[in-house]
Amino acid sequence: MRIVIIGSGIAGITFAEKFRALNLAAEIILLTKETDGYYSRPILSHGFSKQDIEKTIIMKTFAQLEQNGIHINAGVEVITIDREQQSVSFNNGSGIEKLDYDQLVLAQGSAAFIPPPFLAFRKQFYVFNSLTDLKVLRKLRQSFIDQGKSTDWAIIGGGLIGCELASDLNAAGDQVTVYHAMDRLMERQLVAEDSALLLNHFEALGVDIRLDQAVQGFEQQAGKTKVLVANTSENSDHHAVIISCGFKPRTDLAQDSGLATGRGITVNDFLQTSDENIYALGDVAQLPNENIYAFIMPIRSQALWLAAHLNGDNTEPWSPPIFKPKAKIHGFTAEHAYIF
Ligand SMILES: Cc1cc2nc3c(=O)[nH]c(=O)nc-3n(C[C@H](O)[C@H](O)[C@H](O)COP(=O)(O)OP(=O)(O)OC[C@H]3O[C@@H](n4cnc5c(N)ncnc54)[C@H](O)[C@@H]3O)c2cc1C
Repeated sequence: MRIVIIGSGIAGITFAEKFRALNLAAEIILLTKETDGYYSRPILSHGFSKQDIEKTIIMKTFAQLEQNGIHINAGVEVITIDREQQSVSFNNGSGIEKLDYDQLVLAQGSAAFIPPPFLAFRKQFYVFNSLTDLKVLRKLRQSFIDQGKSTDWAIIGGGLIGCELASDLNAAGDQVTVYHAMDRLMERQLVAEDSALLLNHFEALGVDIRLDQAVQGFEQQAGKTKVLVANTSENSDHHAVIISCGFKPRTDLAQDSGLATGRGITVNDFLQTSDENIYALGDVAQLPNENIYAFIMPIRSQALWLAAHLNGDNTEPWSPPIFKPKAKIHGFTAEHAYIF
């Protein structure tokens, strides 16, 4: 039997390792766009205050995973799924290859969500969602430092990731302005009292927090980017703008192959898509209760469960564990439980 996995985040790698441990006979082939190895996405949030991050963030090299019997095809992009032929096609950089599967596991995760009105300004901002994004931003930051410029960032979005990013850039010594559309920070994770505490925390550190901001676009002038906000004539400019407005599950491949999708790839309680030979988990999968469990702990639980299930070891449906993630904001502790 051949299991093909798309994606080398926590979902794909945890599943592959567990399935290999349970089943020595199956062929396991993992296809991924990544080239750096298996890295920890949560650690990205401390990617500016930690000097050696590009090395320490790697939890396992692909060579180590190969030694454990997982065949990794790195630096390739899967472009189609042929459900009738049970095969996937991928671009290996110099051509298109085809690979047959008996069972396919979709673990493509999520990309940064870019609000549609901002798409027209795509060259004028950065995103922060992957190790590749972090490397681009670190290089940019270093170029500012080398030119003797101040490092002055605008972050669009005061949610969980936007606040973690603001906190880390501030800890690294940079000037940060956060533009948030809502009237309080992290309104999806914190009660109002804790949002107020967080605002005080940031202001005491010199982070410029602007609430109720309807950002409409960006304008580049003399090496800086102006953030255009509705109902104000005082638009500020910054050396760089980072959009942090949430995430978007990568559903395109599934959609193009005719699988059922909603916000994510639709799965049943057995993590099975609308095709009986294709499963999905992690940031890309949407459960029957409509939830996408985009946190490390439930994704790890899904991956371990699915490995056992496909090995024939469990017949009960997957159920989410109790999990209580916390924001990684330097020096800040919420006084109440997170909402999640
Ligand atoms: C900055 C940041 C901080 C976070 N902090 C926390 C935290 O503190 N706690 C927590 O619980 N969660 C945190 N999260 C969320 C958590 O990291 C994600 O929920 C989790 O990493 C998702 O794992 P995944 O394997 O589903 O997807 P991903 O990690 O997105 O992996 C998907 C993989 O699929 C590959 N891929 C996609 N499409 C293709 C294709 N067509 N062909 C080949 N390969 C493809 C990608 O290159 C990638 O390797 C954070 C997320 C971010 C961005």
